[in-house]
Amino acid sequence: MKNIHNFCAGPCLLPQSVYEQASQAILDFEQTGMSILSISHRSKEFIAVLEEARSLSLELLGLQHKGYVALFLQGGASMEFLRIPYNLMQQKAGYINTGTWSAKAIEQAQLMGEVSIVASSEDRAYTYIPKEIHVKEPLDYMHFTSNNTIYGTQFNSIPKANAPLVCDMSSDIYSREFAYDQIDLIYAGAQKNIGPAGVSLILIKEEILGNTQRVIPHMMDYQEHINKDSLYHTANVFAVYTCLLNLRWLKQQGGVAAIERVNNQKAALLYQTIDQLDFVQGVAAVEDRSKMNVTFRFTEERMNGVFDQLCTEAHIANVQGHRSVGGYRASLYNAVTLDSVAVLVNVLEQMKTVI
Ligand code: PMP
Repeated sequence: MKNIHNFCAGPCLLPQSVYEQASQAILDFEQTGMSILSISHRSKEFIAVLEEARSLSLELLGLQHKGYVALFLQGGASMEFLRIPYNLMQQKAGYINTGTWSAKAIEQAQLMGEVSIVASSEDRAYTYIPKEIHVKEPLDYMHFTSNNTIYGTQFNSIPKANAPLVCDMSSDIYSREFAYDQIDLIYAGAQKNIGPAGVSLILIKEEILGNTQRVIPHMMDYQEHINKDSLYHTANVFAVYTCLLNLRWLKQQGGVAAIERVNNQKAALLYQTIDQLDFVQGVAAVEDRSKMNVTFRFTEERMNGVFDQLCTEAHIANVQGHRSVGGYRASLYNAVTLDSVAVLVNVLEQMKTVI
C-alpha cells in the first residue's frame, strides 16, 4: 500500500497488521481452507471469534464481571438511536444536545416518548461541552455523546443524573480511560476505533432492561439479542472478525491506558501547533477539545488552496472538515501514528513560508 497519512473521520484507519490478517482470512480463514466470507455464522470457528470479541470488548474497558453484556449488531450507531428508546423509554428521557449526532438521537427518542433536553451547546454552534450537569428530574435514562466527531468536542467527565446513563461513544471508545462502569449502556458504530463499518458494539448492563410495557419487535429488542448470544440473525462475520483483530492489537499495545498516552501525545502536538501559528484557529473551545477529532480553520479563505496542495504533496488524505462546519478536521484514532501527525504539523508549519 502507498504510504498515505490518512486522517479519515470514519471509516477510520486500522493498523497495518489488522489489514494483513483480515486479508489473509479472506483467502484462508485460520487454515480451514475456507474464506471468512464464506463460513457460517453458526460455525464453531465463528462462534469462537464472536465470543472472544465479546469478552475482549468488555475486558479492555474493565467491564468484565460487572453485569454487562456485549452485543455486535448491525445497523450502525443510528440504529441504536432508535433501539435505545424502544427498550428504555417509559415516559421521559433526558438528552444532552452536543451536536448533529445527539440531535439525531433526540429525534428518534421523541418517537417513543417525551424528551427533556437537559443541556445543550446549540447556542454556540456546538463548539463547547455544557458543564456541571447534575440532573435531578425523574428520567427513564439520560443520554449523552462523549465525543462529537463533527465539531471536535469531548466530555472530560461523566454527567450525572438519577437515572441510568446511556452514552454514544462511537468516536472515542477505546481511545482513553474513562469511568466506563458509571455508564449503563455504551454504544458505538465500529468504524472509528473498533473496526470496519457494518457492525456496532453495544455494552449493556442487563439489569436496566425489562421496565417498559411496550411490545418490542425482536430486531429492536436488546433482551432478544442477549438471549441469542448476539446471534439472533446472521452476524456481519467479516466485520466482527476484523473488530476482534483490532481489539487484540489494542491489547498487545498495552490496552486503553497505553494507547491513551500515545493519543495524548498526538493531540498535544497538533493543538500546540494550531495555537502557535497565528493564521490557524481551533474550532472547539480549548477546554473541551477532542483528542480524536481536531477541527481547525485558517484565518483567510485563500490559505485553503495552499494547504490542500501541500497536503497532496505530503500524501495527507481526508482532512476536510465536515460539510456542516467547514474548515479542516484531522481524526487521530488509535491507529494513526505520531509520525503521521508530525507530517501534518510540518505541513502547517510550512504554510508560514508560503503565505
Ligand atoms: N454517533 C457519532 C458520534 C458519530 O460520529 C456517528 C457517525 N459519524 C454516528 C453516531 C452515526 O453512526 P452510523 O453511521 O454508524 O450510524
